[in-house]
Amino acid sequence: MNKKQKIFLTNIMIIIMIVSSTLAYLITNSSAQTSDKLQIVTTFYPLTYITYQIGGEHVEITQLVPSNTELHSWEPSASHIKAAENANIIFYNGAGADHWVEDEILPALSNTKNRTIVETTEHLTLIENQEHTHNENKPDNQHAPDLYDPHTWTSPYMAKQQAETIYNTLIAVDPQHENYYSQRWQILNQQFEQLDTAYKNELSNVSSNIIFVSHGAFGYLAERYGFVQYSVIGLSADEQPSARTIINIIEEIKEHQIHVLYVDPVYSSSYIKTIQSEVQTKTGQNVEVLKLYLMLGPQEGLDYIEQMQTNLYNLQAGLGIGR
Ligand SMILES: [Zn+2]
Repeated sequence: MNKKQKIFLTNIMIIIMIVSSTLAYLITNSSAQTSDKLQIVTTFYPLTYITYQIGGEHVEITQLVPSNTELHSWEPSASHIKAAENANIIFYNGAGADHWVEDEILPALSNTKNRTIVETTEHLTLIENQEHTHNENKPDNQHAPDLYDPHTWTSPYMAKQQAETIYNTLIAVDPQHENYYSQRWQILNQQFEQLDTAYKNELSNVSSNIIFVSHGAFGYLAERYGFVQYSVIGLSADEQPSARTIINIIEEIKEHQIHVLYVDPVYSSSYIKTIQSEVQTKTGQNVEVLKLYLMLGPQEGLDYIEQMQTNLYNLQAGLGIGR
């Protein structure tokens, strides 16, 4: 090896050392950044949306129930328990919506870790489960019948209170980012308050006070804004509506003279068209089908808040304004 070769080799060695130490620095730094974030487990989409709106870049969220999955029959597996085990905070809805958190997840967790577990409806005034339904085989009540109506998240008034609980938890667990959380919370709080006011104003003067819904998830809206929901289809969106479903709807339409039916887009359009044409043929009356989102995930490009806005618009239409 001559002198030139030696210098060349030394230079290579130096370059390799610089590159590898830079890499090592980058790797340590990025993993430090990841673990800096609060590890949060949420049970389903509305809680994820709220937590992210407040927590932003300081939270890393694992959502247990995949978006737009039917909530009531979902069950956790070992991987979900593991995610909960690693969390700093667990946010769940409560009121029976995600009963498996208390039944299956919490009892399986080790008690050696400092973990904050929050039932976001714990201090809320819940309404009793009084779903109006003529559907005999209700697949959503396979577990013990719920004492309370679990669908708090469909109401901006209830969701705002759940969001406030989430905000208070974040600033208690992570006080060094209080300013950041507080600014984001104020924006979200204002959105919920504006929606609550809009629902109150827009639905106070309607000509009808009954809605027919696919799944009775709107009890908190009905109670606060003054209408009654009848659930006429049930929970599972079959390939095609059953004869029983058609009969239920026809009975309700004859009894109440209501011609609007609300469905979540989880029901296929062919399902909805079959209902519409069967019922129109058998009653001789026009039936309109409008969307009312269950808000279990982003839908048709709309996020949680946007689905609340669309629901208000469609409720106005169905309850008689603008006709
Ligand atoms: Zn439900």
